[in-house]
Amino acid sequence: MKLGLIYSRVSTDEQAKEGQSIDAQIKLCSAYMEQNGYSIAPDGVYKDEGKSGSNTNRPGLQAVLQRVIDDKAIKAVFVLDTDRLARNTLDHLSIKTIFKKHEVKLVSISQPMIDDSPEGNFIDVVLAGANALQSQITGRKTSKVMEQKIKAGWWAGVAPIGYVNSINPHPMSQLDKRIVTPDPEKAPLVVKMFELYSSGSFALDALVTKMNDLGLTAKNGGELQKSMIHHTLRNPFYYGKMLWKGELYKGKHVPLIEYDTWLLCQKIMNAHNQNGSRKRKHNFLLNGFLYCEDCQGRYFGEQHVKNGKTYRHYHCGTCKRGTYVDIDELEKQVEKWFSKVEMTEKYANDLRNKAKEIVESLRDTTNDERQSLVNQRTAIEAKIQSAEDNLLEGTFTKEKYHSITARLEKDLGEIETKLAQTSKNYSKGVKRVERLVDMAENIQQTYHDAEPEMKREYLDLFFSKFMVKDGKIVAALPSEYIKPLITSGKLTVRVRNGWLPG
Ligand SMILES: [Zn+2]
Repeated sequence: MKLGLIYSRVSTDEQAKEGQSIDAQIKLCSAYMEQNGYSIAPDGVYKDEGKSGSNTNRPGLQAVLQRVIDDKAIKAVFVLDTDRLARNTLDHLSIKTIFKKHEVKLVSISQPMIDDSPEGNFIDVVLAGANALQSQITGRKTSKVMEQKIKAGWWAGVAPIGYVNSINPHPMSQLDKRIVTPDPEKAPLVVKMFELYSSGSFALDALVTKMNDLGLTAKNGGELQKSMIHHTLRNPFYYGKMLWKGELYKGKHVPLIEYDTWLLCQKIMNAHNQNGSRKRKHNFLLNGFLYCEDCQGRYFGEQHVKNGKTYRHYHCGTCKRGTYVDIDELEKQVEKWFSKVEMTEKYANDLRNKAKEIVESLRDTTNDERQSLVNQRTAIEAKIQSAEDNLLEGTFTKEKYHSITARLEKDLGEIETKLAQTSKNYSKGVKRVERLVDMAENIQQTYHDAEPEMKREYLDLFFSKFMVKDGKIVAALPSEYIKPLITSGKLTVRVRNGWLPG
């Protein structure tokens, strides 16, 4: 008998629901294993209870990964569905990569399509993208706690450079149990950095070198980068305010510098930016995908204005051979490459069924969130009603009534905004899943109709490189996801001739 592990997880929300329990997951997995010639390895059942799948920081998951690495006898890991493992593409792929490296199969028992076959891997990537979106929606619930913390004056995330996350020895409430305090080693260096920059005699590049020389390191202990210093100098946290979701809040942490010093740094930075050579970043759809057939160098997008006219083009950054290629022309050519991809009927159907499943779970999550908001709204409306009663009965003065209802009306407005946002996110999610279905119908058309951001995702899903020669795309290289589908014996995504370079 082959040996396997079982991994199970429930989030706090799911714990409340039926049918999602850890025990149910384990029971289903072990039954499946028995039917398919596997037995559970000694101590081979792993659990993460009350853990979200939006990151990999879970003891159970970490133990599974360690076991897979250490124990050669393990042949497969069984999960109820891939959501148990991860809810974002990157985590999902990293976990699968580790499994693959140690020749361990991932078996998702409720999604028989998702196995280690090339077809399964491809669908996996598409699905993981949709799962990530759902996680974004549920993730907003957690940010409520963060909001409370921020409003109470406590930073709710990783401490900025010069500070450390620490435990408050004398907490006053739930909100200030974990706080941010100055880092005894780095704080003086950060102060020094602000002083040096505010003197006006350091450009950002020189400051990076200087600070690295002085021994200020990044949060991960590595060398400081220019972007980090830029970010640090811009951060109002150092004079005592916290920037959160676009708004400034007063912080209760110890400031490192005076507001005036910070302000001076902003003025200097703005002045440098204005006359500096900092080019505006333009969106070039194909950046990173185009390569030179002559020298294998990378193509870059560029834009400049001549005699009042704007020119946009791509060109080889290495050999500069051939001329500049017009942007629209190349983008049109890329679109034609999508006509070479075709899906078989079976594959398209599988994709459609999966899409339906995702929409359903997305709707469930959204309904839960809406229900909770509607409950809050009802409670506030009841409070307003009772304030009115009190006013009529003469228990409340007019002033008291106004001050109470003003606050409640404001809360009511916020809830309405959130409700609207929920619907918007839901329809955005559904639209995205509908794209999956469209893709199954006609990839080229779907690509053509997609927004630029989505276009990049499709490009990424299907292609890794386009080779350009004399202004023409002469070959396209398939992405890592699609490559196995082309070479494997049974093609589920059919690809027309001329895909691979000669
Ligand atoms: Zn070149």
